[in-house]
Amino acid sequence: MSAANTTHSGLGNPGASAVAAKGWLAANKWLLARRLSQALVVAVFLTGPLWGVWIAKGNLASSLTLGVLPLTDPLMVIQALLARHVMTATALIGAAIVLAAYLVVGGRMYCSWVCPVNAVTDLAQWLRTRLGMDKGLSLNRNTRLWVLGGVLAGSAVTGTIAWELVNPVTMLHRGLVTGSILTFGSAALITLAVFLFDLGIASRGWCTHLCPVGAFYGLLGKAAVLRVSATNRTACDDCMDCFAVCPERHVIAPALRGAAKGVGPVILSHDCTNCGRCIDVCSKTVFRFDTRFHNVPSDASSVRVA
Ligand code: SF4
Ligand code: SF4
Repeated sequence: MSAANTTHSGLGNPGASAVAAKGWLAANKWLLARRLSQALVVAVFLTGPLWGVWIAKGNLASSLTLGVLPLTDPLMVIQALLARHVMTATALIGAAIVLAAYLVVGGRMYCSWVCPVNAVTDLAQWLRTRLGMDKGLSLNRNTRLWVLGGVLAGSAVTGTIAWELVNPVTMLHRGLVTGSILTFGSAALITLAVFLFDLGIASRGWCTHLCPVGAFYGLLGKAAVLRVSATNRTACDDCMDCFAVCPERHVIAPALRGAAKGVGPVILSHDCTNCGRCIDVCSKTVFRFDTRFHNVPSDASSVRVA
């Protein structure tokens, strides 16, 4: 990698050099696309209650789009089956469709492109960075797997889909689409708790360390086809902006710095949320979306796509 010959953003303002090099829009295009996607996921459920145009009925746990496409949260279905609930064929088909989709696009794409809590935890992290706060409480990333195990065991033992009573993901979505003061009130409270936890106690505390939904979708996307790749890694100038913005920064180094060890440029870790933020903030256009099959260890690939 070349020595730095650029104006670095500095970790307090990651992305500033990308804005200078590419312009604001290009340096935020995936972030804007994600926010639009997250807003659309809420909007398609709102057109029915607001204007009588039913695009999607239900919520993130279980929905029917355009009256024909069932979509069901597979984690909810697994909990229901463990709780010995009888599931309808439509719910099972909906879960199979969601499973198939995330096997292709990457399980944790759910986190960055669908889940409304992501915008809240990103805001907390943005504030932490601007305020120069340290990372706070150290949590083990694998804690979320233990929480996931607890959620599944809890369903089996109690015979209820217990997690859905406190799941901030579906609560926030339900609160946004129902308009009921009670539903929105509890959703707002739990969302505020997540925000304050991430802001005041642990950096990236909820999504990166605790959320069982993210853990589940991560496992689901282990062999996902769509991946981010450090295709142009020879251009990296070590400004560290990608590390600063990545919610799962441990996923970057093997792909970005693994050329000498024969490691290909594709970020294969299922922890990567395919958020594309590393693509946005890199002033050297190191990253791009690619497939896991295009993982050529030789940096000859960089020349081809630079
Ligand atoms: S980790 Fe959980 S709360 Fe965070 S974005 Fe993913 S599903 Fe949503
Ligand atoms: S590596 Fe890039 S795409 Fe993956 S989570 Fe980090 S910033 Fe997002």
